Amino acid sequence: KNVSAPATVPSQDKLLGGLLSAAFEESTCQSRYKSSLYRKPSPFPLSPYLVKKLRKYEAYHKKCGPGTQRYRNAVEQLQAGRNADDGPECKYVVWFPCNGLGNRMLTIASTFLYALLSGRVMLVNVPREQEGLFCEPFPATSWVLPGGFPEGNPMKLNVGAPESYVNMLRNGVIRHDTPAASLPAHVYLHVEQTRLRLSDNIFCDDDQKLLGKFGWMILKSDSYFAPALFLTPMYERELARMFPEKEAVFHHLGRYLFHPTNKVWGIVRRYYEAYLARVDEKIGFQIRIFPEKPVKFENMYDQLTRCIRKQRLLPELGSPANATGEHDGKVKAVLIASLYSGYYDKIRGLYYENPTKTGEVVAVYQPSHEEKQEYASNEHNQKALAEIYLLSYCDKIAMSAWSTFGYVAYGFAGVKPWILLRPDWDKEVSQVACVRSTSVEPCLHSPPILGCRAKKEVDVARVKPYVRHCEDVGFGLKLF
Ligand code: GDP
Repeated sequence: KNVSAPATVPSQDKLLGGLLSAAFEESTCQSRYKSSLYRKPSPFPLSPYLVKKLRKYEAYHKKCGPGTQRYRNAVEQLQAGRNADDGPECKYVVWFPCNGLGNRMLTIASTFLYALLSGRVMLVNVPREQEGLFCEPFPATSWVLPGGFPEGNPMKLNVGAPESYVNMLRNGVIRHDTPAASLPAHVYLHVEQTRLRLSDNIFCDDDQKLLGKFGWMILKSDSYFAPALFLTPMYERELARMFPEKEAVFHHLGRYLFHPTNKVWGIVRRYYEAYLARVDEKIGFQIRIFPEKPVKFENMYDQLTRCIRKQRLLPELGSPANATGEHDGKVKAVLIASLYSGYYDKIRGLYYENPTKTGEVVAVYQPSHEEKQEYASNEHNQKALAEIYLLSYCDKIAMSAWSTFGYVAYGFAGVKPWILLRPDWDKEVSQVACVRSTSVEPCLHSPPILGCRAKKEVDVARVKPYVRHCEDVGFGLKLF
């Protein structure tokens, strides 16, 4: 709980130039102020307009959030099956979880951006495996969807749900000119990467205007859909004011929203202080093997070492016979995040058995190897979150293509990663080991077909100067 206000106001530096609210008691969530001390200062200036917008949002959330009379009224309205008239005092978007932690963090950030743009309060449905991971981000209120919420049976939230926006339009339940008072009490927005496309043009002005009339929106997504908001004409101006540098959208929003609880922060802090605090350079490798495109260990290891050599990520090995024993005392730490221990064993072995040419010392660490992913385990998620944070303290990051886990880490860091490319579908090995990302933004894997009214597909990367296709997902989009 974060209800008590601090006795003294923390400095602007501590608040990341105003990104963070001053209205929290530090001890309730130490990571909020301590985490940034483990990183270099953000290379991306913060727009004063965004800061203003966040403070305004916090006041709105407090006014309409759980525990308020306004919230109870809104829930009653939902229960009664009535939509509010145009312009209700409080509108809500309720986030539902989907997939792993990285996906969830990217979609919460996207949903929050959407809430900022569309004047909604964002509430998150926190399943058991996600409990106790994150501090409350908004002061003197809660973002957790209270129990007893009448709608949104997770089993029914799928592309076929009758209350999904696209289906209601298709079935004539709603039309673009339906008045607010005649609409159903809520709308479900399904933004999953079904067939790797965001469903049917929902990021068009007409649709956003209609969606805006609903007092309650339930949203489920597994994608970083923030770039799609930038492609919606009616949000363009506001977004330009909030993010003069479009490359820093997740970087800022992520560092605003996500703060590990003291329990998870303990894991992060203990590890960091034990192994990483005193080294001269930190290099993070995140190796993710996806079940839908398994890559053999030997091939992945070979690709990683090719990337290391080509991009000179680690000191070259010399021959044991010529080891001089002299060096400048510099230590490079390699931090490996992976479900498996094999990569760690081999890389550590290399620098154990051989000297480096320069005499530099390379220390290799891996906090955990969970062997398999378990979406439904709380302890597993605590470690995953801790490792995302530890990776985000690295000066250089090389990560597996397609991984939202890696996207979150480099996004927090504000560091352009090297991406270990995925082999083509019919190949076992990627010819190119890794490429440097052109942006610190995550990739949207399922771009919308931005035809809107025109009813034709458009390659937005050709039309909009601030989006391009991702290095790892050819048809994906990212802001830069
Ligand atoms: P993505 O599947 O790579 O896009 O990332 P997600 O975070 O959405 O899902 C992968 C899940 O597998 C994570 O949330 C973790 O639960 C687990 N996982 C994958 N890689 C690692 C790792 O390096 N360390 C830990 N602790 N967990 C991992």
